[in-house]
Amino acid sequence: MSDRYVYDLAEGRADMRALLGGKGAGVAEMRRIGVPVPDGFTVTTAACVAAMERGGSWPDGLWDEVVAHLDALEERTGRRLGARERPLLVSVRSGAVFSMPGMMDTILNLGISDDSVEGLAAESGNARFAWDSYRRFVQMYGEVVEGVPAHAFADELDALKARRGVAQDTDLDADDLRGLVATFRAVARQHTGEDLPTDPREQLRRSVDAVFASWGNPRAAVYRKANDIPDDLGTAVNVMQMVFGNKGATSATGVCFTRNPATGAKELYGEFLVDAQGEDVVAGIRTPRPLAEMETVLPDAFRELRATMDRLEQHYGDMQDIEFTVDDGALYLLQTRTGKRTAQAALRVARELVDEGVIDRDTALRRLDPAQLDQLLHPALDPGHGATPLTRGLNASPGAAVGRVVLDAETAAERGKAGEAVVLVRWETNPDDIAGVIAAQGVLTAHGGMTSHAAVVARGMGKPCVAGAGALRIDVEGRRVHVGDHVLTEDDTITLDGTTGDVYAGALPLVPPQVTDDFRAVLGWADDVRRLGVRANADTGEDAAKARELGAEGIGLCRTEHMFMAPDRLPVVREMILAETDAARTAALDRLLPMQQADFEEIFAAMSGLPVTIRLLDPPLHEFLPDLVEQSLLVQRLEDEVGDAGAPLHGTDAVFEGWAAAGGGGETTARLGRARRLLAQVRRLSEANPMLGTRGVRLALLHPQIAAMQVRAIARAALAVRAAGHDPRVEIMVPLVGFSEELRRMREVVDATMAEELGGVDAPLPYAVGTMIELPRAALVADRIAEHAEFFSFGTNDLTQTTLGISRDDAEGSFLTAYLEAGVVGTNPFATIDRDGVGELVHVGLERGRRARPGLHAGVCGEHGGDPASVALFDEIGLDYVSCSPYRVPIARLAAARSTLDRRDGARTTREA
Ligand code: PEP
Ligand code: MG
Repeated sequence: MSDRYVYDLAEGRADMRALLGGKGAGVAEMRRIGVPVPDGFTVTTAACVAAMERGGSWPDGLWDEVVAHLDALEERTGRRLGARERPLLVSVRSGAVFSMPGMMDTILNLGISDDSVEGLAAESGNARFAWDSYRRFVQMYGEVVEGVPAHAFADELDALKARRGVAQDTDLDADDLRGLVATFRAVARQHTGEDLPTDPREQLRRSVDAVFASWGNPRAAVYRKANDIPDDLGTAVNVMQMVFGNKGATSATGVCFTRNPATGAKELYGEFLVDAQGEDVVAGIRTPRPLAEMETVLPDAFRELRATMDRLEQHYGDMQDIEFTVDDGALYLLQTRTGKRTAQAALRVARELVDEGVIDRDTALRRLDPAQLDQLLHPALDPGHGATPLTRGLNASPGAAVGRVVLDAETAAERGKAGEAVVLVRWETNPDDIAGVIAAQGVLTAHGGMTSHAAVVARGMGKPCVAGAGALRIDVEGRRVHVGDHVLTEDDTITLDGTTGDVYAGALPLVPPQVTDDFRAVLGWADDVRRLGVRANADTGEDAAKARELGAEGIGLCRTEHMFMAPDRLPVVREMILAETDAARTAALDRLLPMQQADFEEIFAAMSGLPVTIRLLDPPLHEFLPDLVEQSLLVQRLEDEVGDAGAPLHGTDAVFEGWAAAGGGGETTARLGRARRLLAQVRRLSEANPMLGTRGVRLALLHPQIAAMQVRAIARAALAVRAAGHDPRVEIMVPLVGFSEELRRMREVVDATMAEELGGVDAPLPYAVGTMIELPRAALVADRIAEHAEFFSFGTNDLTQTTLGISRDDAEGSFLTAYLEAGVVGTNPFATIDRDGVGELVHVGLERGRRARPGLHAGVCGEHGGDPASVALFDEIGLDYVSCSPYRVPIARLAAARSTLDRRDGARTTREA
């Protein structure tokens, strides 16, 4: 901890950012390397923190230090604050460690007074400039330090311009501005009940205090929360000699980027205004001019600016965002910082800086934000659309979708397959809606969170989704959606922006996904660096091919239940479930087998030469049956119809069956019979807590024929594609194992079936059998489970649910959302792995598994496999790979490389320490 709170600019440098803030360290560094900056000093973030800790009162000695540095500044510049002769004017600016643009406060022209305004006028020979500076000061100081509402000043300014019949501030003359200073002072007195202080040093003290306090203003707090900036860092305060861009035609102010932040192109990018101060450029009062025009207006300053831009970019090795002022022909830089940029620009800048030899590849990789690249993997709204959103929900799956509103999945499937662009709009989606989701351009739901069914499925498919848009009132019967006063019918087109969560009426222009050369090049560097493998979760040949194209090194999870849901399969699956005899069940399974085999063939072919982990059926059987309430209603309706035909409705089913068999009723009776049997089965299979019920290996042990059919399909598919010249790498995975005995018994079924299928085959077909680790018990007894498993795949979705005792579907949109808002938990554990709990279980499970089976191959196939922060943990723990949806594969590749580099950097710092 430093023993002082104030540093001269000459004492600072870039690596003192934590103490001096980004702006303070940046200006000091520029001064250090000889770039022209105004002189000044910085009050540290530590001073702000100390003041916060004291409830706002300053620590001992802070004011004395400020005074001493001010005295020294006056000495160096030969000017004095508030003096009539050679007055010193300063700016007082916030400057946090992490840039928070526009969130905190600034006061300019401090030091101007009734005395010094005259000196400034005489010295510059420009009375208008002097009085303009004065009125700006009173306005800013009044607003920021004394809390006078901004409009009170703006109204007076507007009234004066109206009286003068002018449009621009610059059309007011010195006398106008002199009058305005008096008016502004009166306005301030009205609001605060006292005169503004006239002593500039007192003004300085209050201004520094106001900047400290602006760290705590609501918009700054919101910004920190949104950007994960800790609340306890505090801001530094920079006090710098004013330079003036508003001294007339030889002065200007502007902002520029060293490259285009939207595209990354190395070209002139920026804006400036002649005869203006900094806030005029951003405030939109006057329209700034393109930077290129500065070449003709202020050629010398322009040339110097260009050279300085190059120099700063070289020095920092990254694209810079620069603020500058030209004071009567002389260029000053006021700030330089890393420029924020789009994903596309980030890639291009990284690649070109490497090509130019400015930075090496590792440095470039360290700077790229894997999560940001998501922007590039989905069609996006054209940024220039300018439309106002109708409503907003959660930005559940990025990208943009345009299509006609459709309120049910069946219609969406039908119209989507017919080639129409539709957006599926639902209260919430469920697995039955899958066909509609597949055929739609995007999904909009009124309910549900970031990992609701719609969100997970949509992300898995790379399909845009806005979830939980609470303002939607969906009237399915009336085929319309109310959004406030707006009514959408099924003839209306809407546009979803899954990247922001905005929903628009009408069709907005889109730009296609961009897997550019830059992107490919950068991912190539990432592949050279990373240790962690990256596979994809994919259930179809098409997804598998997409995943491979995006760099997946295999399939980490093929969920076979999605294959059971397809419209041509579901009736057969239902027959299988409803079968009352073994023979009937076997017959249904025999019909499913070739369908499954065809699915697997496509996947094995697409992933030839790479491992494919196929998971045996996981969900409870009732998921393939109709909803209990809907089925009860159907039975009731049919009973009403048949009742009119005199059927014995109140007897037992046996009585009813007897009556029907004796020829009672007709077609409706037959339907009622089937509906009743289905209802009975739905009732029998319904569970209070299906997530913890008869599913996974439990279901497979109850009905080994189902697993056997799947294994047979796998074996036959592998043999078929091998015969066609492919190289299938088969991994069979058993879900939801908690007891090693479950896996031992399941293996017997798998191995026996495989033996039957492969018995007569010439060349052996190697295959591995492994298990999901997705229950806490499985992680704890992983050593015993590993005796029967050739690989592990951590199912962190279920592991999170069962470790936290939180049901994802019930938590999101209810208490978990409230927890996140209140800060009870920092991040959503279903999006980013809960390091201390679930992460620790993965760690323990891996260690124990490898203790029993050294070198045990292990990965993660939960949603967390595509989340950069979680990927870092999995890499650190030593897993072999992560598996995520195809469209997240590039992100995981980059995140894995980042993790390697971070660990390497960490090891270096530890060695150096
Ligand atoms: C998991 O539980 O993490 C997993 C991948 O399985 P599912 O999401 O299909 O339950
Ligand atoms: Mg699971």
